[in-house]
Amino acid sequence: MKTIRERDRELIWHPYTPMKIWPEAIGIVRGEGSSLIDEQGNKYIDTISSWWVNLHGHAHPYIAQKLSQQLLTLEHCIFAGFTHEPAVRLAERLLDILPGEMRKIFYSDNGSTAVEVAIKMALQYWSNKGVSKKRIIALEGAYHGDTFGAMSVSARSLFTESFAKLLFDVDFIPFPGDANAENSILHLKQLLLNDDVAAFIVEPLVQGTAGMRMYNKEVLSEYFLLCKKHNAIIIADEVMTGFGRTGNLFACDAVSISPDIICLSKGLTGGTMPMGLTACAQHIFDAFYDEDILKTLYHGHSYTANPLACTAALASLDLLLTDSCDANRERINKSHTRFLASLQNNKKISAARLLGTILAIELNTGTHTSYHNKQRDFIYRFFIDRGILIRPLGNIIYLMPPYCITGGELNEIYNCINELLEII
Ligand SMILES: *Cc1c(COP(=O)(O)O)cnc(C)c1O
Repeated sequence: MKTIRERDRELIWHPYTPMKIWPEAIGIVRGEGSSLIDEQGNKYIDTISSWWVNLHGHAHPYIAQKLSQQLLTLEHCIFAGFTHEPAVRLAERLLDILPGEMRKIFYSDNGSTAVEVAIKMALQYWSNKGVSKKRIIALEGAYHGDTFGAMSVSARSLFTESFAKLLFDVDFIPFPGDANAENSILHLKQLLLNDDVAAFIVEPLVQGTAGMRMYNKEVLSEYFLLCKKHNAIIIADEVMTGFGRTGNLFACDAVSISPDIICLSKGLTGGTMPMGLTACAQHIFDAFYDEDILKTLYHGHSYTANPLACTAALASLDLLLTDSCDANRERINKSHTRFLASLQNNKKISAARLLGTILAIELNTGTHTSYHNKQRDFIYRFFIDRGILIRPLGNIIYLMPPYCITGGELNEIYNCINELLEII
């Protein structure tokens, strides 16, 4: 009999995968806690929460039980003209805990569409008001998704190269790293003076795909303040930072100024079901609340507010909003902090950073920083061979584990990183 891996190889085209260079995918049959188990029975510690989505471990029995009940009650229904308890309950609970003054929830399917909806809300907000503001500002190195609008507001990169000419123009301000914070803020200030800026979109505190690049809350606060002053809509893309990754429940909790729109996905359902959503403040919604049907937000998806996804999100929130989950996140942060301290003065490392449960280590490997390169592939294999799933971003190794990861598992990962640092 053929393995899953062999059958896959004949039929399936994988995401972000140069199929000729990486034809092999590991066949996973089961997940348990923070581990994935393959068809040969090998175990992999999932240090990246399966692409930043998993919060409480794989195949979590509590979420599974809630989902199976919902499956026998209502699996899906059209969300125009109809509604249901899980969607309403989830909106109530999220609006309660989201930062700032969020008042409405718009459901969709994934992070990219949550961003598309945010961009449409922001652009149509101004056109509904009869104001000509069309420019969008983003950060250099930004990543907001793979659909065309989301690509447009993302850094021009390997990911967008083939479509570069078709993307709409966006102004990118410098990333506010190290000595560049003032400069970045100044750039934003200057662009806002034009008065044609519709929106500013940002990954708050951590740029994920750019390599877990971090910047401080004072800068974020300054960005938000400037946007408020110049009447530009603030879109906080919390697709990755949401649901506790940065220490606070949401990254924007670190600042006192409220964004106008927040995008969520990834951890939203605890990593169980695909779902995205865009939350907005009252004034955004009000610009669409009109007898003129041209002012409607004409956007939707077949699976909008899927009851199973909403149920998974509610179950995930039950687990997230507990003292024991807080304690776990605190424990991971402390453990990362100790490991980070042990790496001080290591010549193989050019930079290291930590926020909440996210730890990133930049290897000192000269120029090899692109998404795909030989060293990156070597590092990936090195960890896989030792039963650890780490997906380096170029020369950057990062850990963003599920909150249930044990101290023993963390030590196993740290030891492996130390082993790697010995040989490179
Ligand atoms: C992953 C990600 C997205 C895109 O989400 P998908 O569900 O992969 O489409 C958007 N923004 C940020 C910050 C992300 O990390």
